[in-house]
Formats: sequence, C-alpha cells, structure tokens
Amino acid sequence: MSASAASAACDQPAACRTAPLPVLGRDVLVPLVTGGEVTYAALDYAASAPALQRVWDDVAAYAPYYGSVHRGAGYLSQLSTDLFEAARAEVAAFLGCRPDDQLVFTRSTTDSLNLLAAAVPDGTEVFVFETEHHASLLPWRRARVTYLSAPRTPAQAVETLEKALAGRDGHGEALVCVTGASNVTGELWPVRELAAAAHAHGARIVLDAAQLAPHHPVDIADLDVDYVAFSGHKLYAPFGSGVLAGRADWLRDAEPYLAGGGASRTVARRADGGVDVEWHTTAARHEAGSPNVIGVHAIASACRTLREAGFEALVARERELVGRVLTGLAAVPGVRVLSLFGEDAERVGVISFVVDGWNSSHFAAALSAEYGIGVRDGLFCAHPLVRTLLGGEQDAPGECGAPEAAPGERSLNAIRVSFGAGTPDEHVDRFLTAVAELVRDGA
Ligand code: PLP
Repeated sequence: MSASAASAACDQPAACRTAPLPVLGRDVLVPLVTGGEVTYAALDYAASAPALQRVWDDVAAYAPYYGSVHRGAGYLSQLSTDLFEAARAEVAAFLGCRPDDQLVFTRSTTDSLNLLAAAVPDGTEVFVFETEHHASLLPWRRARVTYLSAPRTPAQAVETLEKALAGRDGHGEALVCVTGASNVTGELWPVRELAAAAHAHGARIVLDAAQLAPHHPVDIADLDVDYVAFSGHKLYAPFGSGVLAGRADWLRDAEPYLAGGGASRTVARRADGGVDVEWHTTAARHEAGSPNVIGVHAIASACRTLREAGFEALVARERELVGRVLTGLAAVPGVRVLSLFGEDAERVGVISFVVDGWNSSHFAAALSAEYGIGVRDGLFCAHPLVRTLLGGEQDAPGECGAPEAAPGERSLNAIRVSFGAGTPDEHVDRFLTAVAELVRDGA
C-alpha cells in the first residue's frame, strides 16, 4: 500500500485505526477497508490491555448490587463497602505491601504520581531519568527536580543515580522516580539496585509499575521500594482505577489530594465564621468524593486472577512472543527496533520500531486498515526518550501524538507493538507477515 493510500485511509476515521472493542478480551470482528471481515488483532496492550474474562465476569456479577461506600446503612452500601475494602486488601496482597503501608485508590498511574508529588514534604529533591513516561517526568512541580540523562545500560542507570545522589546536599528529603519497564522499549530497569542506591543515600524511591505490573510480579517489600503506582486499564481491568501504595507517613501528613466528603472526619464551624476540618489519616484522606467502586472491584479482580494464576506461565509465554517478534522484525530489511540497553536487555511485551522510508503513522494506519491490527504510533508520552532513540532533536508537536514526516523522510516517531496475556500466535504471525508485506510493497 502506498503512503498516499495509507494517508487517504486516514481520512476515514471509521476505517483507520478503528478499534471498536465492545467485548474486550476477545477477538472482535471489524470490517476492513479491503472488504471482508477478520478478527481484530489488538496489539496495543501497553496503552490499554483487554480485560480478562474473569474481570468481566466479576464486574457483571457485582454490577446489580453496586452502591455507595462508607456512608450508607443500606444493604447495597454495606456490601459495596465490604467489597471496596476487600479490594484494598487484595491489591495490597498482590503488591506484597508491608503491614504499615497505605494503599490509595486513584484513577490511574498519572493520578497516583500526581498525588505523591502533592504529598512530598516541602523542599524534597526529586531525581528522575529523562527517559521516563511523562506521567513520571512531569508531576514534580512543587519539588526541586534533577533530570538524569539517559543511561545506555542498566548498570549505567545505577551509576548515574549514585553520582547524582552523592552530589546532593543531604538536607531534606529526596525521592527517586523510576519506571519498572519502559513503555517505549519494554526494557526492564534495575529496580532493586536503584532502590538500594536510593536508600544508601537517604532517598526514597517510587516505582512506576504501569508497564511492569501487567507482565511481572511486583513485590514492594522484596524490591524494597517505598511506593508503587500502576493503572487498572493496563492490568486487564479497564474501568478507570489506579493505585498508589507505599509508606504511610508522607501520605498521612500531606494535605488531602482532593478536599471533600470522605476525606474529612469532622467539619465544624468556628466562632470566627471559618471552618475547622479534621482529616482522616488513612487512605480515605486522599479518596474524597464517591469513589469508582466498579473500577476498584475490577482492579482487585485482575490482581486476584493474576496472583492465583501466577506469573510464571505468563512470563514464559511473553518471553517466547518477544523473541518471535524481535527475530521476525530483524528479518525485514529496513526495520530498526528501538533499544536503550542493547540487544541483551530483558523486555516485556512492548517493542517499538521504525521502518526506513515509511512515516510511522502511515505504517500504523496501514496495519490497521489492511490487516486489522491495532498498534500505536507516535512518541508514546516519552518525548525525550523517543528522540534519543531516534537520534534526533526534532520538534514533536502533539502531546503524545504523531508528528508528520513526509514519505521517505527519516521517521520523527515510531511504531509500537505490545501484547500480553491472551495474545494468540495468529496475531503475532499476522503482524510479522503484515510488516514484511508492507515493506516489500513499499511506501
Ligand atoms: N507510566 C508508564 C510507564 C506508562 O506507560 C503510562 C501509560 O502509558 C503511564 C505511566 C500513565 O498511565 P495512565 O495513562 O494510566 O495514567
């Protein structure tokens, strides 16, 4: 398919990058531009993973009994409260939380990291690698931030952090923010070693587990991290919930993230006309308003399902798929897989690449329109990292989106394929065939 044909296809939103997923977690039928119907291959797990069947079932079973939590005396309210708090215990078990950790339900990883950023004590110094997702890179506006340059090996990441921490003045609190698995390269970061380095210098560490938790066990005590954040919709629970778990003190002492009902224990008028508020010191302090009980139910269901199934089979299957995709892409002339840590890096099922002579957006559109394959194109909300990997300093308009390159020009963005639990062989095979055919037929 030519670039202009791909571009024309992009003018038809219904036919281009269409991902109608009325029944997530299963193959669904979508019409192709070329006519006919095929099963849709959702290979964009890193953006949002399809729900596990058990999550659907658990949500469907609970939905008729849905009620408000923490307030009502009625049966539905009591049941919902019990399930809400059971969900907290389930997710805490999934993360291996320590007994005195606090676990706050949020909307997403972005929300969780913004909550932590709002809770760090005044004057906290934050250390963050420039390679992070924007959700980790940007929330620290109240803090003094040191951006660490992109390391080219996991060992260099630890060295870079060691050096930066050694250079700090030692006054006040410090926090390191690091991803467990890159949303661009899928590469695993040396979390345990970074945590040890942080602690050796009196700093805390928060793990952005948005891409790690769906693929690997994340044990907060075993990794010895202070906080963990992740999102339900990447962990097979697409109902708008997220988690921040970790040390209670900063969270307990901080101003409530949202002020309102549920966060306050008592509110009283003062004689001078103002109000006195006593805030909760539990997770409720940061969960004001009516929480997303369905989302919380779903995230707990996903955690329970993954915990009971164990990660062993999932990790082994994913390793096999990663190997197949990397080998398949390596066999296609002009395809370059993006990597920070090099060929030997361990990866989760997230792989980004560029294709010589192709605009990545057109390539992704062609995969969707011609083969019924949904991938992501763009800079993946990690602009500095993708620019480093592409070897350029290009301007990149659009928050997470896809800057335009003329056909034949060097790519300003990349294509990302990602997969996980439930990805069938056929989807990966179709993807590799599609890449080879598109390259063969040319832009
Ligand atoms: N961190 C990483 C590594 C991610 O990949 C993402 C989303 O892609 C986020 C954070 C933000 O997650 P959310 O959009 O669910 O807040």
